[in-house]
Amino acid sequence: MKLRLLSCAVALALLVSCSGPVEENEAGQPNTPPAPDFTTSEYLPEYDCPDYAPARVGAPFGFSLYNGHAFFTGIKDTENTYKYYTELGSGVNYAFCAKPECTHDSKDCQAYSTNSAISYYDGNFYYLSPVPSRSPAYPGQEETVIIKRPADGSAQTVAKYVHDDEVYSSHNGSFESRFIHRGFYYRIGSQNIVVDSVPKKQFYILSCPISFEKNFQVLYEEEYTGSETLYVRAVGSSIYILTYRSEQGTYDTLLRRFDTAANTLETLYSSSERSNIYDLHVESDGTIYISAGINGEGCGIYRLKDRALEKLYGNPETPPAGIFICNGVTVSITNYNPETYSWNTIIRDFEGKVLYEGELSGRFTREYREKYQNAGTRVSATMFITSYFFGDKDAVNMVISCSVGTGRGTAVVKYDISETRLTESLLFCFDLR
Ligand SMILES: [Zn+2]
Repeated sequence: MKLRLLSCAVALALLVSCSGPVEENEAGQPNTPPAPDFTTSEYLPEYDCPDYAPARVGAPFGFSLYNGHAFFTGIKDTENTYKYYTELGSGVNYAFCAKPECTHDSKDCQAYSTNSAISYYDGNFYYLSPVPSRSPAYPGQEETVIIKRPADGSAQTVAKYVHDDEVYSSHNGSFESRFIHRGFYYRIGSQNIVVDSVPKKQFYILSCPISFEKNFQVLYEEEYTGSETLYVRAVGSSIYILTYRSEQGTYDTLLRRFDTAANTLETLYSSSERSNIYDLHVESDGTIYISAGINGEGCGIYRLKDRALEKLYGNPETPPAGIFICNGVTVSITNYNPETYSWNTIIRDFEGKVLYEGELSGRFTREYREKYQNAGTRVSATMFITSYFFGDKDAVNMVISCSVGTGRGTAVVKYDISETRLTESLLFCFDLR
């Protein structure tokens, strides 16, 4: 315990100065993240993932938060991708690998993985990992499997070979999102197809219980032309899917809910109005919020009620760079300042009451850029990108996608909210060096 307190103090000092690298564990140490403090599959809201990357389409490097720990993915100057975890605010990252004497830098490492997020369900961690193909037809190739790592520290096993499945292999487009939620694996993507000599896109959602006996099923499949934006959220036993399509002056917004327990797909809202959608948020009780500019009206915050959008308030900062919806609050950001890497922000509750208005500091981003610059690294404007926010009335958290050269990772900066100021602290960062 003493040792741990000491390392926390060192880590805090690092965070305060924000100048030192976030350290990794020493090579050769087996790492086992703490088991969450329950052992059943009972529904516990804080272990669901509405706020987190697993269910966010396009979230570049999946991370998840459980029990004050973050699990995330990183690439360090190599093509290989590894899973890491950290105690929030500790400043120390560990490879998600329980193998003794492992140096966590090869395909033999248990942390070697894809860029999808780690999920926790019923006493086990799950994640996707490439392993050598079992097929003699593909020597040297890899195939993706679902790895199951018991939280009690016992040996990990392959929970499912996904490529064996016909439905899975016939939907082989570009990945937009894949995540594990409550014991099911979801794969959401689109692929180019030709129907009667007409090139089209096919959008699909597949799911499968994590079990060798069960096959993938198509939850949803649709062909379309034109362009589409997509939002997916997993909350409780439901997957919410919001699509917006535009093609030659016609527009189509559809919000659907797939109930994984009842195996039903229901349309919650549809509209043919031209829209600019910023965010979709589902509270744990199933209440749905959308931030959007609809029919040239400027951006507003809407709540879904009786299959119609009820406007809660308009957003005067038009056009915003983004309006993100968290639990009970919205975060509007405008006027990015490239000198200080800061934004102007207004944080409101769902009634429109302003909780904070002013600068959203970019101190962390600035200091990390300077660190790399001082080390002689050529940095680009896109090295740290604000991906999205999650949080509540007490604090909002900014998720940053980081990239330097071939390195990729995630950082999360927490902003504690008071009327007069936001207090910034670094929750964690994957150091790219
Ligand atoms: Zn390892």
